Amino acid sequence: MNLEGQTALITGAGRGIGKTIALKLAECGADIVLADMNPEVAEVLLEVESLGRKCLTFETDVTDFDAIDAMVKKIIEELGSIHILVNNAGITQDNLFMRMKPEQWSKVIDVNLNGVFNVTKAVIRPMVKQRMGKIINISSVVGFTGNPGQVNYSSTKSALVGFTKSLAREVGARGVTVNAVAPGFIDTAMTQALNESQQELILQQIPLGRMGGPADIANAVAFLASEDASYITGTILHVNGGMY
Ligand code: NDP
Repeated sequence: MNLEGQTALITGAGRGIGKTIALKLAECGADIVLADMNPEVAEVLLEVESLGRKCLTFETDVTDFDAIDAMVKKIIEELGSIHILVNNAGITQDNLFMRMKPEQWSKVIDVNLNGVFNVTKAVIRPMVKQRMGKIINISSVVGFTGNPGQVNYSSTKSALVGFTKSLAREVGARGVTVNAVAPGFIDTAMTQALNESQQELILQQIPLGRMGGPADIANAVAFLASEDASYITGTILHVNGGMY
């Protein structure tokens, strides 16, 4: 998968799946823009540069519409254009619905759904204008199966399916594809927060018998970002070891 000459913006790229996606796209030849709230993002820059790629980092919150708009303008000023957007930043604030506080509902909607709106809104005009773009949203298996304790989170991940499919229909004729990857349970800080019995229960539901790694998701993203996937749009690629 050759991404030479392309620039990819990845949100939530300071650690976990986002960081692995950034390094994978850099390995494939893309220049990389890392956006994350976490200052750790600066360390990822060194790793990207060691692969011989240009890299910019922004310590930005995807919920801040104006900051995101300013970031995208700056990227275009410095690197010329953005060809690939990976909407990866996401959070959980789990609680059984009966106990879920309005703030837990709103915060997760704000980051996981409004965040995707904000970043996509900022890149879509330049992509349409250049008649080329690949937008890849990171959904989740729980957006399809549901999960107790995650009414807020799984609602946002299902919503990304509607977002992906509708936007794909709007911008396909302008050379922009919009797809999503729906990971199963992937070994990152997000899943390490689950207790042992929760993890065991999950493993029983996975035909391949193991959690996925961030590289499993990064490989799927690299494919969707590449020319090999140029006739694929409005699709959800499930990467979950067969659990759904
Ligand atoms: P992590 O929690 O390990 O990493 C998420 C990254 O996003 C962190 O660096 C975090 O920063 C950053 N982030 C959080 N909020 C914001 C924000 N408002 N603006 C910018 N950056 C932000 O998560 P994962 O790598 O596990 O997950 C990545 C994506 O994959 C998420 O969308 C998640 O929902 C999805 N996913 C993950 C699965 C899994 O099993 N791990 C399964 C299915 C989907 P900080 O360090 O400051 O919190």
